Amino acid sequence: MLPSLFLSHGAPTLALEDSPAGRFLDRLGPELPRPRAIVVATAHSLAIGAAVGGAGQAETVHDFSGFPAPLYALRYPAAGAPDLAEDIAARLRQAGISTRMDPARGLDHGVWVPLLRMFPAADIPVVPVAVNPRADAAWHYRLGQALAPLRHEGVLVIGSGGFVHNLGELDWRGENGLVPWAASFRDWLADRLLQGDTAAVLDWQRQAPNAARAHPTTEHLLPLFVALGAAGENARARRLHDSHQVGSLALDAFAFGAP
Ligand code: ZN
Repeated sequence: MLPSLFLSHGAPTLALEDSPAGRFLDRLGPELPRPRAIVVATAHSLAIGAAVGGAGQAETVHDFSGFPAPLYALRYPAAGAPDLAEDIAARLRQAGISTRMDPARGLDHGVWVPLLRMFPAADIPVVPVAVNPRADAAWHYRLGQALAPLRHEGVLVIGSGGFVHNLGELDWRGENGLVPWAASFRDWLADRLLQGDTAAVLDWQRQAPNAARAHPTTEHLLPLFVALGAAGENARARRLHDSHQVGSLALDAFAFGAP
């Protein structure tokens, strides 16, 4: 059965660069059982309540500025999956989560950058789901739980965000180790995930060291809780990747699945 995944998508240049995180994604796609569809909860689409992309063919959105021109020429022409999107919306409503369909929602770079590396043929339908910056970790965990049965039906659930993400504290010359405050947050969160301590993970804002510095806004961590919820009860976490860029962006990736 497919695991659920949390991926750190880093800077948009990850789409093209030869880096440890890029090569990891290149390997990851072919290693997975081939999904029939992919649902991505993405840090770069925000909505109040849940918003499910129901387009038959979503646009590739270049939602960034100041990056090299070749990035703006990239497209990810995967089909949408309107029926699956409707099914997801129904499951979320059944779970008591206020949900709307959003046929105009495109694929932001949180979706297409990792998918371009993992599945470059773009031949698997994709449904994007927004995160809700007004809701907490537990809300996103419940959203993920509502998606868990889809994993039995060949649907890959991905949360795409960043393990440590503070754009005010990037160091573009930082080629040394992850800075200490970011490392202590990363280590705390990775340890709790690997120990299966979901209660502590969901209480990260109170318990994790440097939580507010690691995530001054929460949208890049919220996809983690969707992926964790989608793994179902007693899921085991596996750390698939850890690297970092520009001093403080931790690019950890995790898989969650049955023990
Ligand atoms: Zn991002």
